[in-house]
Amino acid sequence: MRFKSIALVALTAVGLAAGPAMAQTYPTRPVTMVVPFAAGGPTDTVARLIAQEMSGDLGQQVIIENVGGAGGTLGAARVAKADADGYTVLLHHIGMATSATLYRKLPYDTLGDFATVGLVTDVPMTIVAKKDFPADDLKGLVEHVKKNPDKVTLANAGVGAASHLCGMLLQEAIETPLTTVPYKGTGPAMNDLVGGQVDIMCDQTTNTTGQIKGGAIKAFAVTTPDRVASLPDLPTTKEAGLPSVSVAVWHGVYAPKGTPEAVVKRLSASLQKALQSDLVKTRFAELGTAPVAQDRATPAAHAAHLKAEIERWRPVIQKAGVYAD
Ligand code: ASP
Repeated sequence: MRFKSIALVALTAVGLAAGPAMAQTYPTRPVTMVVPFAAGGPTDTVARLIAQEMSGDLGQQVIIENVGGAGGTLGAARVAKADADGYTVLLHHIGMATSATLYRKLPYDTLGDFATVGLVTDVPMTIVAKKDFPADDLKGLVEHVKKNPDKVTLANAGVGAASHLCGMLLQEAIETPLTTVPYKGTGPAMNDLVGGQVDIMCDQTTNTTGQIKGGAIKAFAVTTPDRVASLPDLPTTKEAGLPSVSVAVWHGVYAPKGTPEAVVKRLSASLQKALQSDLVKTRFAELGTAPVAQDRATPAAHAAHLKAEIERWRPVIQKAGVYAD
């Protein structure tokens, strides 16, 4: 008994010492940032910019690993099960909150398995279509879709993706269920939209702005209360007659639960620095978004936001009655 308690004291002392000591040296090797969607999409774009800036600050490469599929839940599961040492982190979006209701069973506990590091950005979405889609404004798109519900296909990145959420709001608003085509991310979905293999999509400006400006796809509306400066001619869904299709896609960084607090703090400080960099500010503005204010890029603000967003979207999803197993 006596021996046991001595061993316990010794172990506790080691445990206490490991935290600060680790944080002083962390990171001593590359950090993997999991993006729960395919490469080339909007979450990937945001993550790569942040990773580039954080690499400079941390003095170690932050390497992107794309783990797409099942609306972002596979990538989140990968991080939930990773070692809690700060060398595997996740950059996810609003899907972290909506999946908690959308999935009857998740391979992780949304609030219990992660340490929040900080919020990153709130990205508007756009309703877009292949360039020869037979409508020129949102009213025309809705009319066409209502007349041809089984002919029009809607791309998304799976149940739990932002494109799924926005598509769900759209189908609710026009009271017309559509045939959805799931991808591992809206990067590959965009390729098919440009190629005309799929008809419409709702996706972040961080993926659609370049294609809209280049004329490769048609845009109908932006899903935020205000227009976006990078696409000034695009009306809001409210202006265009579908006010309930309203959503901004927040992104946040997570570490596995149990990651030493000092390491989470170090990651958060690095994220805050990245968000203030000229490169991130400029690229985000070109892509129709902006970094969050510094006080939102913190573990506490992110944790509160995640909880509030789970509550906010739960009744909306329940009303729509969409669930996945
Ligand atoms: N924008 C996608 C979504 O629907 C995800 C992605 O490919 O980044 O959530």
